[in-house]
Amino acid sequence: MQYLKYFLTGMVALLLVTACGGPDRSDDLIVIDAGHGGHDCGAQCGGKQEKALVLQVVQKLRKEFKRKGYRVYLTRGNDTFLKLGERTRIADKMDAKVFISIHANAIADKSRFEAVEGIETYFLQKTRDARSQRVAARENAAVLQGTDALSKDVIIDSVLNGPKIVESNKLAIDVQHGIMRQVKSRYKDAVSGGVRPAPFYVLVGASRPSILVEVGYITNSKERSRLFTSAYQERIAKGIVEGVSRYLDNRQRDLGV
Ligand SMILES: [Zn+2]
Repeated sequence: MQYLKYFLTGMVALLLVTACGGPDRSDDLIVIDAGHGGHDCGAQCGGKQEKALVLQVVQKLRKEFKRKGYRVYLTRGNDTFLKLGERTRIADKMDAKVFISIHANAIADKSRFEAVEGIETYFLQKTRDARSQRVAARENAAVLQGTDALSKDVIIDSVLNGPKIVESNKLAIDVQHGIMRQVKSRYKDAVSGGVRPAPFYVLVGASRPSILVEVGYITNSKERSRLFTSAYQERIAKGIVEGVSRYLDNRQRDLGV
């Protein structure tokens, strides 16, 4: 009888923990953006295309965010092209908590394909760093077609001093940390390229914490073969969700709610 009492008390405790397991995320909408699409294939190497890869990654991300109780919206769920401003406008219109754009990296110099690898998370800011500028120039190329130089400067200057930069930086740090923790638990030699500022136009106009994740280099044969596996994509997705959750928990604590 005594044992039964202990057993029942244990079951009730377990049920309570399960019922209260983690914070309620049902009010938190996450907008996830798969880079490129349609005529814009993004980076290409070894017969693989960035636009297809990022679509696979965002599907995994949607699943993982939903599993954790978040609401999710994808800017594109198929092979279509969205114009400049459309992606972040969706995030604003839907009042998303955060905006995450997913991309894959590439370099032009073939002799360095096997030397350059790593996962990087970016937030919007002007920078003198040559590597960040190169990545941004490649990613911006298709998005900026038909936009003149003056409007480019006006667009970017209008947001560069916005209050969201500090928040986006914090979000980027948490997400990069989450990704590396998850990926390294299975792929010990995975390389972190760190958190970097860069002038990505896809993040311009976002009035909420916004980041761009470069999930790896498709020009590097080791990363390319991993990037197109479910196992690797799942680690990336879990890491991003972990990072976003940590960021939102900390922000809620800072706001005292
Ligand atoms: Zn890209």
